[in-house]
Amino acid sequence: MSKVIGIDLGTTNSCVSVIENGEPVIVPTGSGNRTTPSVVAFTKNGERLVGEAASRQAVTNPERTITSVKRHMGTEWSVRIDGKEYKPQTISAMILMQLKKDAEAFLGDTVTEAVITVPAYFNDIQRQATKDAGRIAGLNVKRIINEPTSAALSYGLNHGEPQKVMVYDLGGGTFDVSIIEIGEGVIEVLATAGDNHLGGDDFDSRITDWIIREFKREHRIDLSRDFAALQRVQEAAEQAKKELSSSESTHIVLPYLANSKGEAIHLDMTLSRSQFNDLVKDLIERTAGPVQSALSDAGIAASELGRVLLVGGSTRVPAVQDKVRALTGKEPSRNINPDECVAKGAAILGSTLEGKALPAAGTGQDLLLLDVTPLSLSIETVGGVATRLVERNSTLPTRYSRVFSTAAPYQRDVEIHVLQGERPMAKDNKTVGKFKLKGIRRAPAGVPQIEVTFDIDANGILKVSAKDLDTGKEQSITITADDRMSEAEIEQAIRDAQQYAGQDSMRRDAMELNSEAQSLLAKTQQALKNAGKQLDKAEKKQIKHDCNALQKLLMKFRVDKVSEADMENIRNAKQQLENSSARVRELYGEK
Ligand code: AMP
Repeated sequence: MSKVIGIDLGTTNSCVSVIENGEPVIVPTGSGNRTTPSVVAFTKNGERLVGEAASRQAVTNPERTITSVKRHMGTEWSVRIDGKEYKPQTISAMILMQLKKDAEAFLGDTVTEAVITVPAYFNDIQRQATKDAGRIAGLNVKRIINEPTSAALSYGLNHGEPQKVMVYDLGGGTFDVSIIEIGEGVIEVLATAGDNHLGGDDFDSRITDWIIREFKREHRIDLSRDFAALQRVQEAAEQAKKELSSSESTHIVLPYLANSKGEAIHLDMTLSRSQFNDLVKDLIERTAGPVQSALSDAGIAASELGRVLLVGGSTRVPAVQDKVRALTGKEPSRNINPDECVAKGAAILGSTLEGKALPAAGTGQDLLLLDVTPLSLSIETVGGVATRLVERNSTLPTRYSRVFSTAAPYQRDVEIHVLQGERPMAKDNKTVGKFKLKGIRRAPAGVPQIEVTFDIDANGILKVSAKDLDTGKEQSITITADDRMSEAEIEQAIRDAQQYAGQDSMRRDAMELNSEAQSLLAKTQQALKNAGKQLDKAEKKQIKHDCNALQKLLMKFRVDKVSEADMENIRNAKQQLENSSARVRELYGEK
């Protein structure tokens, strides 16, 4: 059976891990890196690039490059490229396909099963979209788990003493804080909070804005209007930020960034760590609220924390670490790699689900994982009130039921409006689904008994059903929020992905055939020039004819348009020339 891989599908970078000899190891990319940029690009000649290749060309192809797609998961966002519409699930699936491919190359085996991580604050729709992306990529997603839970899993493997731990995860686009209890072979999430629009990307934007301001002041040129220049500035901003994690100041140099009166203008600036700290102070401060609310939801004081774990690349910023120290009064642990621990935890869980239980925390017991709902779940009742059925931070999987009645006399239908969020009024929460239970027996208001049940599986995915206890009639839903993909759309996306994979391999074959044919032509022409005199007229004529035939076909060759029939024609013409030119090539000393 093939191995279950653990995937940290990040906003900025993604990471894959798999268990080898009982230990989680990181799957390297084709070029040996340990994380893959979560970037997808479409080149002008119809090629699709993912990861490093996509990231490298982002500057020169900004309109056709997609970054941070995770921010759009579960929304109606889409991008239109060459007349085709792509949803976040489809773009994410392309990243997952690349990760799957890298894992297959690393393991030398096919990979079909995965555990994928999501921020703890992801709602049901976002989780479902992530699962759908996995399916489109040809992966059976065995579990969706929260990133902090996953990090704690990788931690729990090495550190067993029972304790409560805070996981402070500041990545590229999301911030999560969780309070986790690590016990004897059990890791339980006590509370989670966060902000899914806060991360290192925002730090980069602050530096970018600063550069643009300074440049405008000095040269009176607005770089924000020049898309290509802006991309270069954004890349330089991220680089500068990373350098400031280990140096007190950094030099930002971008030659030929702009033009003024025909003269090239270069950018050359210095940014100090303290200037950078000022630029991002309020962003870092924004992590304080979720930290306090996670602690209070877990019912503990910071002083009761055994450890504070730092997760996500942005926790490398010294000012972030200072903030964590100030908020918790603890020295954060840094003996887990902030970029890799989430994927490793997912691999550990994957292996456990496969039945190959790893001894947790050195106790020799099987690993048990208790996850929680990130937000409360309610239904709308009389007066637009959100009546809670499931409190946030309830342990999963779980099932809750409650009996409701009708509000109006002789009401025959009730609408079940399912909400997610913490606000008391329905309209302030997020609608995750709506359905009707019909055919209730005519009765005065308050008499019918309608039992509403919320079932949440281990992935945090919700199913809601309503049952008329009088007639036994029952109605349940697959959640039908507009921004969730329909079954038909998923099927279509799977077909597209498969078709794309087929197209990709056909393109590779076509490129190979084209280059073999070109090389045969070149060799034949060279041989004709040098040894042609030794041939009789008829033979020479035949070779020239075959060369022309092949050349004609190759002139029409377009890798993004080539069909099976075109390839067959090229193959035949190539074969024909190979036969007719064999002698002259041999005479010239060419095989
Ligand atoms: P993650 O989502 O965990 O991969 O985190 C990615 C974010 O971490 C990006 O915004 C990176 O720019 C940021 N990051 C990575 N390395 C560093 C570093 N050495 N210093 C500051 N930020 C970093």
